[in-house]
Amino acid sequence: MAELDRTGAAPAVPADWTYAPAPESKDIVHLRDRYGLFVGGEWIEASETYETISPASEEPLAVVGQATAADVDRAVAAARTAFADGWSSLPGSERAKYLFRIARILQERAREFAVLESMNGGKPIKESRDVDLPLAAAHFFYYAGWADKLEYAFPNRRPKPVGVAGQIIPWNFPLLMLAWKIAPALACGNTVVLKPAETTPLTALLFCDVLRQAELPAGVVNIVTGDGRTGAAIVDHDGVDKIAFTGSTEVGKAIQRQLAGSGKKLTLELGGKAANIVFDDCALDQAVEGIVNGIYFNQGHVCCAGSRLFAQESIYEPLVEKLKRRLETLRVGDPLDKNTDVGAINSAMQLDKIRELVQSGRDEGADIYQPPCRLPEKGCWFAPTVFTNVAQSYRIAQEEIFGPVLSVLTFRTPDEALEKANNTPYGLSAGVWTEKGSRILWMAQRLRAGVVWANTYNRFDPTSPFGGYKESGFGREGGLHGLEPYLRFDE
Ligand code: NDP
Repeated sequence: MAELDRTGAAPAVPADWTYAPAPESKDIVHLRDRYGLFVGGEWIEASETYETISPASEEPLAVVGQATAADVDRAVAAARTAFADGWSSLPGSERAKYLFRIARILQERAREFAVLESMNGGKPIKESRDVDLPLAAAHFFYYAGWADKLEYAFPNRRPKPVGVAGQIIPWNFPLLMLAWKIAPALACGNTVVLKPAETTPLTALLFCDVLRQAELPAGVVNIVTGDGRTGAAIVDHDGVDKIAFTGSTEVGKAIQRQLAGSGKKLTLELGGKAANIVFDDCALDQAVEGIVNGIYFNQGHVCCAGSRLFAQESIYEPLVEKLKRRLETLRVGDPLDKNTDVGAINSAMQLDKIRELVQSGRDEGADIYQPPCRLPEKGCWFAPTVFTNVAQSYRIAQEEIFGPVLSVLTFRTPDEALEKANNTPYGLSAGVWTEKGSRILWMAQRLRAGVVWANTYNRFDPTSPFGGYKESGFGREGGLHGLEPYLRFDE
């Protein structure tokens, strides 16, 4: 205290706030050089392979399989056999035991998974540790609870499992998306063939270890790695009864076209361009935190990211000033450093996409702001970016950038905010910042978005359904609603 109380020549606060490095150790992760495909409870060799890397350092991490249509065929056959041989007729209370076990093992091995997620995907360790892993375990716990209560969840509708679920997930939340897909599928008595994204296969492969530890019957979950061709082979396979896809709107539309008339069930969780709407009566500093969390969390690789900020004109200047000042304090760098706020961009391809869209913002006439920050020389990096002076018609206000890039627009009245917010082909999420409860409700009723957060952003909970309107897809994941896509009803 004496130091801080001192007045006079020396300032009471340190002049330099640079953080010392606080790297999380990689020792807890034991990577194999090569991974095959996890089919029927066994590792099988893939005929083709590719190398998966760390986007932060570009170092190769492991060689993984590129599953062909024949490999997918084997995985689907294993899933069909497991479905018929007992999993689908197992009492719900028994299925629940496996899900509870998986949840507990994920908790026990959380640090190992968190480190691997950050190594392979580039996200900051504090996010994989504090968000991805706890939520993934929570999803298994939550759906374990439903497994023996399906008749109560859907009274008089005689719920039955659908069969084999083909599940295709993206690279932004690899293990969490796996949990969102696998937990409800198994709770309802289905078996699964899942494909992680090409750039982030490693936590899904480590998850196979968890399945063995939990003694899940062979073939109930099969993991095939590979690129879009592997995903297409799953979608195309006649032995698959349901497709659950999370990814781009473009691929989602192609899948929907392909499945039309096939009788397969389909849920699509696609892109977004969410409006984060800030009214002049809100707690401004709190809103700034919410805006930062909304767009720079996970480098903006978030389908529900608050990528369009709508600021009420009367507070536009102080809001933007506070936001810029806050951006200066964001630490960009090593994903494994516990102080890092913004990690690496997931892949060189995604970095190119972000750069191209940011350039279009400059060309169309928006003003760009990036805080001074030194980006590492190797790897894929992009500085947190804010665009002001943005018109509704600009590409940066229309297209999903999927990077740490915010477009700021303004409005005067609630009606105007609403009209602008809804003026998008997407409809996944939105945020409202105001002190008036009635205004929150008024906005939430009118915003065409699957999730509306009020005075907060990017809050997830397994009990709460998540999903989109319009080009953001259809079907819900999470909550009671998340069970329905994995059930058929004999009514
Ligand atoms: P994709 O839609 O291509 O990828 C999502 C998943 O689908 C991946 O596992 C991918 O495999 C697989 N896939 C690709 N093509 C096919 C196909 N024809 N049939 C079946 N499965 C397929 O997204 P990208 O990774 O290419 O990202 C592109 C853009 O999509 C991003 O910039 C972002 O805007 C958006 N996106 C949105 C996400 C969301 O959560 N809403 C998540 C990810 C991306 P592979 O990994 O090999 O490509």
